[in-house]
Amino acid sequence: MTYENVKIHPAVDDGVKKGDPGFAGGTLHCKCASDQVEVKVGAQTAHNHVCGCTKCWKPDGSVFSQVAVVGRDYVTVTSHAEKLKIVNEAAPIQRHACTGCGAHMYGRIENREHPFFGLDFVHTELSDQSGWSEPQFAAFVSSVIESGVDPSRMEGIRGRLKELGLEPYDALSPPLMDAIATHIAKKSGALPA
Ligand SMILES: [Zn+2]
Ligand SMILES: [Zn+2]
Repeated sequence: MTYENVKIHPAVDDGVKKGDPGFAGGTLHCKCASDQVEVKVGAQTAHNHVCGCTKCWKPDGSVFSQVAVVGRDYVTVTSHAEKLKIVNEAAPIQRHACTGCGAHMYGRIENREHPFFGLDFVHTELSDQSGWSEPQFAAFVSSVIESGVDPSRMEGIRGRLKELGLEPYDALSPPLMDAIATHIAKKSGALPA
């Protein structure tokens, strides 16, 4: 049995393309026809994954987003910063979206106590360049139901993710969940800081 007709995200539906370890970053641009917001990412991304949560930006018709992280110091808005607006100032990740087309250009954590402070979230599909790190797992898979996916489709969705080598998790991947728990334990004193 194969699930190849189950759509996940345009960047992985034809198979996951390996990133280039030597890739050193590139440029993201929004989907506007003119006056595009441009963001320079000056390093290779990490922890790229597809995400089923309801907060990440997804291309039209896609059930999952594709999102990676990179150090915040490597992210610079180089064109049309005036079009950017934070989607929800109260959210832990402040997603800077284009007011013209809706694309999220980068998500930033301003709370220094957050386990992922220092990392920005970016959608490398907004780049014309290839070589960005490839998606490695699927996060918050059950959450696609919250955006209206019928629960009966979940077997096919998880099956397709496994076929693609994107292990489905209903939170983040174990290394990232461990990183969060370690951060909390060091803060509480359960582990030495
Ligand atoms: Zn735009
Ligand atoms: Zn997400």
